[in-house]
Amino acid sequence: MAKERICSYCGGSGHDARNCPSKKANTPKDKSVWYKVDNLTDEQADKMTSGFMNLKRKIAPDAHGAYLKGDKKSLPGMIAKALGRKDD
Ligand SMILES: [Zn+2]
Repeated sequence: MAKERICSYCGGSGHDARNCPSKKANTPKDKSVWYKVDNLTDEQADKMTSGFMNLKRKIAPDAHGAYLKGDKKSLPGMIAKALGRKDD
């Protein structure tokens, strides 16, 4: 007789805690992350962005993601604008 999987989170069967729909629904999604990497070539910046977007799709496909790429000098203003603040 096959042993049925019992979820350690909700006690339900047919899934484990890692894929538990109750756990997923009860886990708050209130975190954001912000990354900035300086001294990149244009090619490195594109590769970093591509890698970031692939990771985001893999880890958090339903999360909202955005990125900005720009010159060191103009990026702070671009970020401020994206955040809805007036730049200068
Ligand atoms: Zn469960």
